[in-house]
Amino acid sequence: MKIGRFRVSWIEASRFGLDGGAMFGVVPRALWASRLVPDERNRIPMVTRVLVLESSGRVIVVDAGMGTNFSKKQTAIYGLEDLDLAKGLDEVGCPPERVTDVVVTHLHFDHAGGLAVARPDGTVAPLFPNAVHHVQRGQWQWAHAPSSKDAGSFMLDPIDRLEGQVRWNLVDGVSEIAPGVRVFPVQGHSRGMQVVVVSAPDGTALFGADLFPTRWHLRPVWNMAYDNEPVLTVQEKRWYLRQALAGRWTIVLEHDPELADVRVTDDQGGFEPGGLDE
Ligand SMILES: [Zn+2]
Repeated sequence: MKIGRFRVSWIEASRFGLDGGAMFGVVPRALWASRLVPDERNRIPMVTRVLVLESSGRVIVVDAGMGTNFSKKQTAIYGLEDLDLAKGLDEVGCPPERVTDVVVTHLHFDHAGGLAVARPDGTVAPLFPNAVHHVQRGQWQWAHAPSSKDAGSFMLDPIDRLEGQVRWNLVDGVSEIAPGVRVFPVQGHSRGMQVVVVSAPDGTALFGADLFPTRWHLRPVWNMAYDNEPVLTVQEKRWYLRQALAGRWTIVLEHDPELADVRVTDDQGGFEPGGLDE
């Protein structure tokens, strides 16, 4: 797949399950359960999808999945299955050592956990030793002093132990990470989360992180109970849906278990599959 000068691929780094009620907030189970069918513990299937962009010497990865720094109990609660991101990167010709930039949309463990790899001696090593790690300064600060609501979504100990081993670029607001790759902060889900817009004359793709985790979250009010400021999330989604509709953007879905990318057909949740893989 290509957008302008970028070769685009994505990798499923892990599979897991989250409580369906938590994923759909105030939407009644009678509505969401027929779309994403929950298991006997009320968990809906999810993946962590990692975006890889390659162009003239730069290899940019967006998010890093969950990794393996979890207790047996956590692994069981989340039904976590690690799919080996490093191997997936090898398979698309971008082994971790070649990655020059990692855009971390936010530091929730299902997006940033994979950045730190546990060594047998108990220390941690970076998965991307040569990459600049880009995260919004506001998210970095929020993650280290979170609200009581999303404190449980940050597991920062392995990340903080990367200190001195990776270079962090704390981004302030809208920024161009590489020509044609820009990040935009959004605030409703977790303060300082950033979405990624890849633009070229032949198309635009939005990596929406937890603004549009699955195809069903394209509906403006189908939102996660995890959001810190749900009303703000609705406003932010409406804005991006209008841009996506007007510009025929492709939206890459980080957590959808089956569908990696969509084009919206209206701003109320209508979509058609694909966009990048036509
Ligand atoms: Zn999140």
